Amino acid sequence: MLRRMSDCLFCKIVAKQLPARVVHEDADTVAFEDIHPQAPTHVVIVPRKHVPTLNDLGPEDEAALGKLHRVAAKIAQDRGFAAEGWRAVMNCNRAAGQTVFHIHLHLLGGRAFGWPPG
Ligand code: 5GP
Ligand code: ZN
Repeated sequence: MLRRMSDCLFCKIVAKQLPARVVHEDADTVAFEDIHPQAPTHVVIVPRKHVPTLNDLGPEDEAALGKLHRVAAKIAQDRGFAAEGWRAVMNCNRAAGQTVFHIHLHLLGGRAFGWPPG
């Protein structure tokens, strides 16, 4: 499990040390196209700050978490499926399928989604 910043794939994307199709960036967040999209839109939105999992959040991270969701809603609006509906997912640790240990919000849109998720 890669928990150190120096090994972190998403820290490297944030630092522009690895390429990604960035669709939004601001002082707090970077959003980019997922490399294995699970829907017509599959964007990953990450805080610039390295936090490995949702279990590691501190009170100082509360605003950043809200920001991830506001960025997702803006992208959904821009891409025209905000009213139809979309999904925001954050996986925490192994049982939920987390594979990159830098917290990220998945924005999935452009199709209908089942519930409960698998
Ligand atoms: P998790 O499984 O941790 O919730 O989500 C990690 C996501 O990152 C997956 O959807 C995976 O496809 C995506 N991903 C993994 N490596 C890369 C990469 O190098 N570039 C991009 N753009 N996405 C990646
Ligand atoms: Zn990181």
